[in-house]
Amino acid sequence: MEQFSFVNAKSEAQAAEVAARSATAQLGATVRYVAGGTNLVDLMKLDVERPKQVVDINALELSQIEPLNGGLRIGALARNSDVANHATVKRDYAVLSEAILSGASPQIRNMATTAGNLVQRTRCPYYRDLAQRCNKREPGSGCDAMEGHNRMLAILGTSEHCIATNPSDQNVALMALEATVQIRGTKGDRTVPLAEFYKLPGTTPHIETVLEPGDLITAVTLPAPRPGTRSGYLKLRDRAAYEFALASAALVLGVSGGRVTHARVAMGGVGTVPWRSREAEEVLMGKPATRETYVQAAEAALKDAKPRSENGFKVELAKRCVVHALTTVSVA
Ligand code: SF4
Repeated sequence: MEQFSFVNAKSEAQAAEVAARSATAQLGATVRYVAGGTNLVDLMKLDVERPKQVVDINALELSQIEPLNGGLRIGALARNSDVANHATVKRDYAVLSEAILSGASPQIRNMATTAGNLVQRTRCPYYRDLAQRCNKREPGSGCDAMEGHNRMLAILGTSEHCIATNPSDQNVALMALEATVQIRGTKGDRTVPLAEFYKLPGTTPHIETVLEPGDLITAVTLPAPRPGTRSGYLKLRDRAAYEFALASAALVLGVSGGRVTHARVAMGGVGTVPWRSREAEEVLMGKPATRETYVQAAEAALKDAKPRSENGFKVELAKRCVVHALTTVSVA
């Protein structure tokens, strides 16, 4: 691990002021915030992240979970376990609680934060291995995953430069819940819908989000729960615990009179970003809440999939995941 200096931030302004000294907030940033440290510290030990300064933001008052305009405001530093077990989250946003509890271990969830999870890095093995070529870690160097071990990697939103998967469960649920990200920046506060927060890899896979130097995520907000809807998360993986998704589905679904009246569909484990499928939602809206409709929605969700040498199985797996999740949530 390279040497770095450590700053204990006493205020949001101080944290942002230090972070603004970095030329980028993306991969290769020379200043990093640390809260739970469950991702950053790993990457620093591997020399994948080499910040010159680390800003500890744990003292900032950003961990509250509180009602807001009929919805919920989740502070950036709210621990994943606190969010998952919060009574309002369990009652009104079950998909978020289920998604968080399906990820990592209890110990990691006790440390990991809402904002840290938002910017969690990919688990692509080539990204974490300095001996391998990786456009995300070193722009322009190439991508050894394309013809390598890509079983875990993405089939949606990929480019010729990167096929890395977004590893988070939380973020998939937040996408289905139409969350927004509250950011304090050097030019003031701004609100970014989660659907606009992540960037597809394209030719610049090292640019993952819209964050700029000096930006500090302060909260995630959820809209009021829609009356008559249910939500749920289904995660398929190689083993039942402490494993990343091969495919997952986060749903918010309303069914009335046997027809779908509301549908939000997001998928994990298959996209380079937490993947919302508006195609599936369009198929579902107004249709009979039947298996036939759910199969059509799943087909639509995966129609643009581009598998590589080892991950073709994800196409069918993700379809079945969506169908099963829809069936389960609609009869819950
Ligand atoms: Fe790097 Fe992306 Fe290729 Fe993985 S898939 S090696 S993260 S460029």
